[in-house]
Amino acid sequence: MARVTISSPGKARVPSQAPGQPPRNIHASAAGSPADPDQRWRPRGRGPVCGYTFRDKTCEKSGPHYCEPRADKPVAFFAELLVHTKGPFARQRFVLSAWEEHDVIRPVFGEVVWSSEWQRYIRRYRIVYIVVARKNGKSELVAGIVLYLLVSDDEEAAEVYGAAKDTKQAGKVAEPAHRMVQLSPRLKARLKRFVASRRIVDEKTASYFEVLTSDAEGELGHNPHGFYLDEVISQPDGKLWTAMRTAAGARVQPLYLCMTTETDDGTSFGGEMIDEADRMIEDPKRAPHVFAFVRKAPRNRDELKRLHRLFPGHPDLPFSLDWADERNWRWPNPALDDFLSRSALRDEALEAANEPAKLNAFLQFRLNQRVQQTTRYIPLDLWDDNAGPRWLNPTWRDKQLHGKRCWGGLDLSSRLDLTAWCLLFDDGTCRWRYWCPESVAPKLNDATGGQFGQWVKAGWVTLTDGDAIDYERVYQDIEADHEQFSIINATYDKWSGEPVRQEIETRTGLEMFESDTTYTRMTVPMKELMRLLHENELCTGGNPVSRWMADCVQAKTPVDDPERIRPVKPKRDTDKRIDGIPALLFAIDGRLGSYGDNYDLMESVR
Ligand SMILES: [Zn+2]
Repeated sequence: MARVTISSPGKARVPSQAPGQPPRNIHASAAGSPADPDQRWRPRGRGPVCGYTFRDKTCEKSGPHYCEPRADKPVAFFAELLVHTKGPFARQRFVLSAWEEHDVIRPVFGEVVWSSEWQRYIRRYRIVYIVVARKNGKSELVAGIVLYLLVSDDEEAAEVYGAAKDTKQAGKVAEPAHRMVQLSPRLKARLKRFVASRRIVDEKTASYFEVLTSDAEGELGHNPHGFYLDEVISQPDGKLWTAMRTAAGARVQPLYLCMTTETDDGTSFGGEMIDEADRMIEDPKRAPHVFAFVRKAPRNRDELKRLHRLFPGHPDLPFSLDWADERNWRWPNPALDDFLSRSALRDEALEAANEPAKLNAFLQFRLNQRVQQTTRYIPLDLWDDNAGPRWLNPTWRDKQLHGKRCWGGLDLSSRLDLTAWCLLFDDGTCRWRYWCPESVAPKLNDATGGQFGQWVKAGWVTLTDGDAIDYERVYQDIEADHEQFSIINATYDKWSGEPVRQEIETRTGLEMFESDTTYTRMTVPMKELMRLLHENELCTGGNPVSRWMADCVQAKTPVDDPERIRPVKPKRDTDKRIDGIPALLFAIDGRLGSYGDNYDLMESVR
């Protein structure tokens, strides 16, 4: 129940409203927006009637649900106990703005699931990613969350920790938290600050908030109820995050927050975390306990389309890719015109227009774009839209496909790893075969969280004996496909496949074309793949191995030519594999070649 929250009269902050902007509360009810609780995906489950009551409002729902009274409590906590500590609203009540309330606080604190372990409803989300541009007030927002977790989350002896690159950086949240305590008579009476130990202590419940030092991963004995990691992109690796994550054993509903702006290094810990946040938005089933709020300006047409698909009707969506168009600024800057001054952005945009080096900084820090040229390529929701009827195994539709025209793509990534063969039919059906030496299976099993073993069992991947790929098996399977379907030609990667090409040609008489994964060869098939996905013209049969690989694909674009693109092969010591996607791209290349006219048109983008 409401322990700390008190009602007190006070002047509510009236958010400023730019002329011509839509009313801000549309935001919360935009159809299809994740901000709308009715549209939110939830895990299945059961549970008794909730019955949670806050200020005469009682929740009658059961099972996983959005619990309005629970969400009301932190919203009231902010407005009634906290004040802003800086900027135009300093010392005024902290009335959450629409995006803070409806896109972050309400879902994070209101979404609950029944826990049979604790015999009560607990917060569904344990991990929260917040990825927005700088100066949108995220430090103050998180400072408020920290104080809520400390004194108002019904947790005895709560331990709340904060960390960043160093203690000074972590203080960006700790300082406003301390200031909020000073400016709130109720909190000031209850909480004590200990500067030397970097703590704010609530003696009543033996709870404290502490800023960790940068070498904190070596410390033992944490049992966090709450933890924030600020500017994740400054972390050298994931050690601190993992140490804190694995420390939370004994808490009922711990909350981990990760805040950051975009990075210029997609392969860093921070870059991967941002990618993971993006995946959560496309595929919430992936990890029902993870919440992501991500606001990045799109870098290309596909990313712009993705946003409009995932957030239909959202009033803040960007209109175009033009970074200088102010209408595109609100998406990465939800606090624009409110907490964040538009004229400051205008000044920087002007400078950026005249100076390329400043443009990069503007794109990264103000529009929250990944300025480095490697990005995730295929949004998972788009890939899933092209699954069609699910196959139970890779030969599921062989009878219907018998004798039909198709094009082959072969990716022999390494003698010691996965090899992929993709057949693309006229109607967009994709049929993959994967082979892998059995010695690699345990590693791939780990990389996929145990799924790889199931894929092998179901026949999606053929394991061959020994340490290296058994080419004889590959030849036999391709020969069998050649007898069964009308394969027009096959395209393969010239860097790894020459002897294999000769053998396949000898055995089947198939016409083989060489290709590679350079900009020159990949730009056209990659654009065609994106077009096929958008037009819903592929049918992957839900192949789980290919889905995993589609998710792993990163693409690269040269700095001086945004029209060119190629896939980036992950290093073999990572947990990622993409072989099935180059195989599909090779098949697409072969099919475009046969489609003639179409190909000439596409050629012009090279
Ligand atoms: Zn409820």
